[in-house]
Amino acid sequence: MKHILLLGTGGTIACKRGENGLTPLLTGDELLSYVPDAKAFCEVDALQVINIDSTNMHPKYWLMLSRAIEEHYDNYDGFVICHGTDTMAYTAAAMSYLIQHSQKPIVITGAQKPIDLDVTDARTNLLDSLRFASCERAHGVTIVFDGKVIAGTRGKKERSKSYNAFSSINFPCLAVIQDDRILFYIDDKWQDKRRVSFCHTLNDRVSLLKLIPSMDSKILDYMAEHNDAVVIESFGVGGLPSNDSVDFYETIQKWVSQGKIIVMTTQVTQEGSNMSVYEVGKKIKADFGLIESYDMTLEATVTKLMWILGQTKDPDRVKDLFYQTVEHDILWNMA
Ligand code: ASP
Repeated sequence: MKHILLLGTGGTIACKRGENGLTPLLTGDELLSYVPDAKAFCEVDALQVINIDSTNMHPKYWLMLSRAIEEHYDNYDGFVICHGTDTMAYTAAAMSYLIQHSQKPIVITGAQKPIDLDVTDARTNLLDSLRFASCERAHGVTIVFDGKVIAGTRGKKERSKSYNAFSSINFPCLAVIQDDRILFYIDDKWQDKRRVSFCHTLNDRVSLLKLIPSMDSKILDYMAEHNDAVVIESFGVGGLPSNDSVDFYETIQKWVSQGKIIVMTTQVTQEGSNMSVYEVGKKIKADFGLIESYDMTLEATVTKLMWILGQTKDPDRVKDLFYQTVEHDILWNMA
């Protein structure tokens, strides 16, 4: 019988209806009372780490979660984190950087409907997650949701209401769960012989600028002044406007020369960036050695920078680490 630790953090799965809307109130133990069938294949202990709507998620909570797993790592075969769906993809990516090479599964799940409703996806998602966390072949950080097993660095919430809320972006699902069976599409557990490693620092001085036509580059000034890195979500395969009214070229030059990290990504979810295609991207990238996130998700891009900047602010080292593939996060990493 596998021994699993369930870490409660709140989210819709744990919500009850109140005067002001849904609020997370149920504890991990209460969640477990809704999935009695799990007793057939695992024993579960519950630990309440926080109880929040994941809109209030913060890097300090990612460190708390990772520390809780580190403290209990040797005593359990797998871990299930119950989490709100809104920022689940960020948490999954952050945990993938904080906890690397784990031969034990660390599953993140949640639901679109509270577990105490008659019609809900919560019981299926929780049962599937406990099943996956109890599986001998499972490992590393994953999102288990609506029957899909998604690498922690590849998840994205693409639907705000449907049960089918999460997609695996620019990478196949690792597995699917159908009834009580797990079908693996990718099974790489035995390729990684390294010992699990835990990181204890994150630098949250990372921000995101989403471009719109005519955006004033002074907004980038503000962001770069108050952060160590700015991710710019540009259009299509990637570029930055330089014309009579807007000039990102000089703004980028100023901040890169002061050691700030500028990372280019795209607003288009599928297929990623390639700044070398158009003049609006190729020249500015080459002139200032900008980093580009290629096929990575935005969530992985942001949390990878927080993880890297917790270790170093040296721009060359940041770039090296950014392009190293961690837990399936980047394939198109031609620096
Ligand atoms: N607002 C909720 C949360 O992220 C939504 C959910 O869990 O589905 O905590």
